[in-house]
Amino acid sequence: MSVPLPTLFVSHGAPTWALEPGRAGARLAELAARLPRPRAVLMVSAHWETDRPSVSGARAPQTIHDFFGFPRALHSLRYGAPGAPALAERVADCLGRSGMPTRIETHRGLDHGAWVPLMHLYPAADIPVTQLSVMVSGGPDRHWAMGRALAPLRDEGVLIIGSGSVTHNLREFRRVPEDSAEEPYVAEFREWVAAHLDAAGHEALRAYRSRAPHAVRAHPTEEHFLPLFVALGAAEDGRRHERLHSGVSYGVIGMDSYLFAAESLDPAA
Ligand code: ZN
Repeated sequence: MSVPLPTLFVSHGAPTWALEPGRAGARLAELAARLPRPRAVLMVSAHWETDRPSVSGARAPQTIHDFFGFPRALHSLRYGAPGAPALAERVADCLGRSGMPTRIETHRGLDHGAWVPLMHLYPAADIPVTQLSVMVSGGPDRHWAMGRALAPLRDEGVLIIGSGSVTHNLREFRRVPEDSAEEPYVAEFREWVAAHLDAAGHEALRAYRSRAPHAVRAHPTEEHFLPLFVALGAAEDGRRHERLHSGVSYGVIGMDSYLFAAESLDPAA
């Protein structure tokens, strides 16, 4: 019997991360080398917000350059992985059975929240990928439930990745140079999250908006934090977790990434 795959939450930072992998990118490359090769990837990106769950059924998803004011070189990057229309059907089926009717969009491509981390994880772009949206007003509980509904996919060789940001205040991001020192509130929020990722902290985590320090400053809007809850729910509450990377860019954009597993983190164990 094959071991279920773990799930991931990746902070995708600024789009320039595609050009400057740094330590965070290297950690994803190392991870890909130690994980079993997935049959397909399901990316849940903060940059596709819808009113109800939507999944891409594209056979050859386009690379969407959904950003402005960044270096021209970023606009020539392409991530040419094949799509995963059969997985899209399966995702819609899993969510539908759990009372979350899901739309399949045949022309939706991959936004930068999806393709930038994938460039670091699977640069050969030879693993089929599809993307699932986040719900504008879904909140942590609904995204957790989506993850729970998608958990069986881990037994089918699907790597589920939530792509967002552990902190994401764009107003502050635009005001600071890239090498700024970390704002104390960012460090405080990141460490609060890290301290609540074990099972005992999950209830507080789901109520982070009222219970975490500086939650509203760290996430003026929630879309970049919600993919974390899909990844956790899909790992059946992530009884085991590993902090793959801890860091910050521009002083305010947390770059923390995590691996979650229901059981052992070692696929060979
Ligand atoms: Zn983003």
